[in-house]
Amino acid sequence: MSTQKGTIGVTTENIFPVIKKFLYSDHEIFLRELVSNAIDATQKLKTLSSFGDFKGEVGDTSVRVTVDKEAGTLTVSDHGIGMTADDIEKYINQIAFSGAEEFLAKYKDTANSIIGHFGLGFYSAFMVAKKVEIRSLSYKEGAEAVKWECDGSPEYTMEPADKSDRGTDIVLYIDDDCKEFLEQSKIDELLKKYCRFLPVPVVSGKEQEWKDGKWVVTDKDRVVNITEPAWMKKPADLTDEDYRNFYHELYPGQDDPLFWIHLNVDYPFTLTGILFFPKIKNNFEVTKNRIQLYCNQVYVTDSVEGVVPEFMMLLQGVIDSPDIPLNVSRSYLQSDSAVKKIASYITKKVSARLEDIFKSDRADFEHKWDDIKIFIEYGMLTDEKFCDAAMKFAMVKDTEGKYFTLEEYRKLIEADQTDKDGNVVYLYTTDPTAQYNYIKDATDKGYNVLVMDGQLDSHFVAMLESKIDKSRFVRVDSDIISNLIRKADKPDVNLSASEREILTSIFRSQIPAVEKSEFLVSFEALGESDAPLLLTQNEYMRRMKEMASLQPGMNFYGELPDSYTMVVNTNNPLISKIKDNADEAIAGKINPLLESINANNDKINSLRESSKDKAMPEDDSKEIDNLENANGKSREDMAAIASDYAKTQPVVRQLIDLALLGSGLLKGKALSAFIKRSVELL
Ligand code: ADP
Repeated sequence: MSTQKGTIGVTTENIFPVIKKFLYSDHEIFLRELVSNAIDATQKLKTLSSFGDFKGEVGDTSVRVTVDKEAGTLTVSDHGIGMTADDIEKYINQIAFSGAEEFLAKYKDTANSIIGHFGLGFYSAFMVAKKVEIRSLSYKEGAEAVKWECDGSPEYTMEPADKSDRGTDIVLYIDDDCKEFLEQSKIDELLKKYCRFLPVPVVSGKEQEWKDGKWVVTDKDRVVNITEPAWMKKPADLTDEDYRNFYHELYPGQDDPLFWIHLNVDYPFTLTGILFFPKIKNNFEVTKNRIQLYCNQVYVTDSVEGVVPEFMMLLQGVIDSPDIPLNVSRSYLQSDSAVKKIASYITKKVSARLEDIFKSDRADFEHKWDDIKIFIEYGMLTDEKFCDAAMKFAMVKDTEGKYFTLEEYRKLIEADQTDKDGNVVYLYTTDPTAQYNYIKDATDKGYNVLVMDGQLDSHFVAMLESKIDKSRFVRVDSDIISNLIRKADKPDVNLSASEREILTSIFRSQIPAVEKSEFLVSFEALGESDAPLLLTQNEYMRRMKEMASLQPGMNFYGELPDSYTMVVNTNNPLISKIKDNADEAIAGKINPLLESINANNDKINSLRESSKDKAMPEDDSKEIDNLENANGKSREDMAAIASDYAKTQPVVRQLIDLALLGSGLLKGKALSAFIKRSVELL
């Protein structure tokens, strides 16, 4: 063959500036492309040999990556099938790709993954090299070695070469502004990132040895990859230890994973991989150690959004599939039907595996539940299908630390905790220590209380309520226990209007101001031995506020004060006593005011009644205003009388403080006043 000159057959003016410009940020991937080509060529030779189409000696098949700092070159060599001059003409000179520039412009974000899929792989060498040489000897009988050379312009030269061993050397004359690729340490880093699990041994640099207190370079070749990574093996051939070792190989320095799932499908798409449930210690690790996507053992990316269902982004591990279309944008990916199938396969597989572990080793599953709970709850909240599957093995934990499936739990509480309307009431606590009093009230009655203290539990509770037929979830302190699970109609509260007014005023006047909180006073006829006063927090308002704090755009609820109810137990002897004493002391002053309020109200009503169907005469509406003002004044007077009286009754304030204390609302100054008063009362 004589020296040949020609122009590379790109349809665009000049592909190289395009490659440099658009792929700049990703230019380290050239090494992945060249090593992948070398591996492909090696695999092809092995295939030919196994079919008897290549009869020669296969020999050493390792791929070598060699840095020569002095010559300024980086060389990737293989002993694969090699290329003849015709092959080079066909595969390298004629880039079978039209409109490359437009294409790259359109998909520049995913340019990284386009390469290789469009035959631009080899040309990515020009991102870092001012000149590239190919020296190759084909496996074909009688083939002549050939040398191709190109300096980044569309012109190349091709001439006979002096090469006697089969295979290809790709020699990169590294650009001045890319000198970092002449550092062995940089090459090591890239090989580790992209080539760690390639199927053919990749040799780069030399082994080091610890000798006389320091690392010394030996003359032994260093293999940088694991050619048979765990996910490519059959699950039956792997021990738990193998899975754990592989996990630590991927994510050094992590705790052991909780579970793993080995994925393996051939149809309707090819996918292998291993997903790990990590023990999550902090958010930083979640974002750092992500699932890695491979294509035939070549690392592609660790941004798997779209491929993996969103809630599984918390998992770690490897997914390897040649069927994920990487040459498209992320938003397209999410609507691609093959990818949807992959995502739904992964979901199914994960839930099946979890169910399996749950069934085969329940104790272990329970043991790990607190750690995997966040993941499963997240999945159930965001993925309908996963939710349906997970209803079988999702666990709830009670205040005694016992675990139940949702079905078991319903059976447990159904008999005792069904209210008069037929709803099963699920009691829960978000803080077993702070809500201890309420939990005890409930468990004393024989009820069970769940612990729902996870980050997602307020959403989870709402979801369960909508999923489980005839169920109601209430936090144990959201009302008095007999109201939470109402078995019969409420017993009537036996108070006259005046007594009610007096007691309300007395208690309301003594509730101390608590920041961002408001209090209502209500009456219940509970048991004699039940607490005299109890503080409860409305379930609905509390949930709204909790959700608001997790969701942007719901500030309205977040701004509202916490709303508490001070429940007065009218059957408690202490309350009866307070009531009787107050009757004696201030009823004489309160009753006339109440009577006048009632009389005024009657007048207001009859005035309104008389002008029901017509416009109200001006005199009447003035009169109503006057009466209402008078009532307002009377109420103020009543409140002042009650408050002045209540101040002389330390037991009132003491009971209120005890109720606040039980809910963790008694703090600072109010708390020290309480302690002082307690001593005095003793
Ligand atoms: P792709 O690998 O996506 O086909 P490339 O531009 O990287 O695109 O390579 C084009 C073709 O050149 C390959 O398909 C292969 O036929 C040939 N080739 C590249 N590198 C080698 C090599 N090291 N040994 C043999 N053939 C190679």
